[in-house]
Amino acid sequence: MKKRLFLYIAFLVSMAANAATYAPKDVPNPKIQGQNLYVVNPDNILNADDVTWLNECAKELEQKTDVELCVVALESIGDYEAYDFAYELFQTWGIGKKGKNTGVLMLFVLNSHDIRMMTGVGIEGVLPDAKCSKIVHDNMIPAFREGDYGGGLCIGALRVYEICTDGEAPEELLNAKSVTNRGRYYEEDDDTTSAWVVIICGIGIIAFCLFHWWKKKKRCPSCKSRKTEIINEKIVTVATTTHAGEKIVRYRCCKCGHEWTENKNIPRQERITYTPMIGGGGRSSTFGGGGSSFGGGGSWGGGSTFGGGAGGKW
Ligand SMILES: [Zn+2]
Repeated sequence: MKKRLFLYIAFLVSMAANAATYAPKDVPNPKIQGQNLYVVNPDNILNADDVTWLNECAKELEQKTDVELCVVALESIGDYEAYDFAYELFQTWGIGKKGKNTGVLMLFVLNSHDIRMMTGVGIEGVLPDAKCSKIVHDNMIPAFREGDYGGGLCIGALRVYEICTDGEAPEELLNAKSVTNRGRYYEEDDDTTSAWVVIICGIGIIAFCLFHWWKKKKRCPSCKSRKTEIINEKIVTVATTTHAGEKIVRYRCCKCGHEWTENKNIPRQERITYTPMIGGGGRSSTFGGGGSSFGGGGSWGGGSTFGGGAGGKW
């Protein structure tokens, strides 16, 4: 009897150790895999039918309203707060159309029982925090309590779809005003102020570049003039991704004609890194299923959030 209990506990501990824990940067982006999808389900928390349905729902929503709905279901986010995790993921991926910021992220975390809806500022008129809270508490959490995770996310997505496609909402969303990160209630400046800002910034940038160019010019070791030029460069060692290279640069002073050479380092080549989809392999088969009409690659629209939305636990 005791042995059985021990084995059971050992089993639970090993399960806990195996739980997939994610940081926002580890979450596989459904837009980067050459698939134009909206659902992230790397731990197979949702079944294939629910994933297909959610993708269809989100696709139609985007076509009708320009709203980008992203559904992320994860087993664990470790010590992260759901709000912080959702915020970071939202900004990293840029969910919602750029300038319009009509994105919605639904983050579901199994082991901490978290559901967090986050909205871009462009959708807050149609989908204010109070409505998000209603969806979370009245529609999603009751299903989650029954253990129906897929059903809860589907009903949540459906409510978002209904609200965004209802009455005047699509028009409002399609014409969502360009909102920048300068402030939540930022209004367009009048034209003269903007023009002055552009002119002053332009002058500043040009002055900065000129100064840098001047600073970079070599001083002649003989007469100290900065009127110098590079005659030629000879690479001694080619830079690779593992070591830096070296070159010999020959300079000439335009003022006194003095010529000299200097040895320079060539910085190591940047290694191009890919973030592979976690787990890979069979998991991609959970997306879409056969005969799905999702084509092409793509990316999220480049939107951002001020952290609107609602969340809860079940
Ligand atoms: Zn000189």
